[in-house]
Amino acid sequence: MKAVVVTGINEFGVEDIEVLPPQASEVRVKMKACGLCMSDHHVISGAMPTPLPCVLGHEGAGVITEVGERVTRFAEGDAVILNFSPACGKCDMCERGLGLYCSAHPTDMGLAGLQADGSHRHQRPDGEAAGAFMALGCMAEETVIHEDRVVKVDSGVDLTRACVVSCGVMTGAGAAINTGAVRPGDSVAVFGCGGVGLNVIQGARISGAGQIFAVDLSPTKLELAQKLGATHLINGGEQDAVAQIMALTGDMGADLAVECVGAPALMRQAYDSTRKLGMTVVVGVAPPDQDVALNAFDLLLTGKCVCGHKASGAHSGQFIASLVDHYQAGRLDLDTLVSRTYAIDEVQQAVDDLLNNVNARGVIVFD
Ligand SMILES: [Zn+2]
Ligand SMILES: [Zn+2]
Repeated sequence: MKAVVVTGINEFGVEDIEVLPPQASEVRVKMKACGLCMSDHHVISGAMPTPLPCVLGHEGAGVITEVGERVTRFAEGDAVILNFSPACGKCDMCERGLGLYCSAHPTDMGLAGLQADGSHRHQRPDGEAAGAFMALGCMAEETVIHEDRVVKVDSGVDLTRACVVSCGVMTGAGAAINTGAVRPGDSVAVFGCGGVGLNVIQGARISGAGQIFAVDLSPTKLELAQKLGATHLINGGEQDAVAQIMALTGDMGADLAVECVGAPALMRQAYDSTRKLGMTVVVGVAPPDQDVALNAFDLLLTGKCVCGHKASGAHSGQFIASLVDHYQAGRLDLDTLVSRTYAIDEVQQAVDDLLNNVNARGVIVFD
């Protein structure tokens, strides 16, 4: 079956890959759609050090075609959304309600392309094992993954749209709804309006935020931000974003600022734009060797809070299900988000478009 495989830095393409049969607690998923995310490109470029070869894809949806002998929660024919941040429900962390950091499915194993037991499920034609990015490897016609990594959805859901809930939407909306805990009437500043930032905006809107400030350099992205719920647009290349946000909040500052780019200078701007006791949430993936500079005295005086955010910021399986409900009820706009679909053989074009910011989200669809 066809899969997008990264074989070296900036070397990737479609290969014929074999997927091993599901083990006892695993399922085989025939993929319907897989979104392209900047993290996929971080694997291609080497910015996210990942053992190669590695099957790309961590934002997908499909239909279960085979289940392992101990799988009882799922059956052949179930429509599912893949979840790179699963919670086993049984480990020490899950028992404390900290499933985001589930010990049975450590994030570093997924980042290394390995299943939780350190093994592989994908094989190149010469027998060489290939990793599966985020233990999903779903930019492929099929994948085999642990049952904790799928979320069952209604069979009527359009998976070519709903697949983006799997990473970009749950990450962005989760930063507003879960980590940022936006309340009705709050003011929210979003720095960077790409695939994640646009969904911080949607999450803030769903939570009833009053003012939603969208900051970006691209007029096209700002236009999309407005369509998805931003109330004020700030072009960071032309305006002083912090000064604008202070002015628009009566010199108080935003209740919440979310940085979605991974640029320390922008994290500082986000922090500077929040009010006393306000919160800055960092979602953007910065290079591992970079630090953020904050004024220590200001931090003490203002009582501001800065925190990191990964995946949904909560129980990701439950959150994915709730986002699909929002989509079906018309509260979450995925149709605007998925601006183009590609066949798997068009992956080079899809990656070029990702880098050139052509789409809010590009999605590879499978027959
Ligand atoms: Zn992603
Ligand atoms: Zn667990």
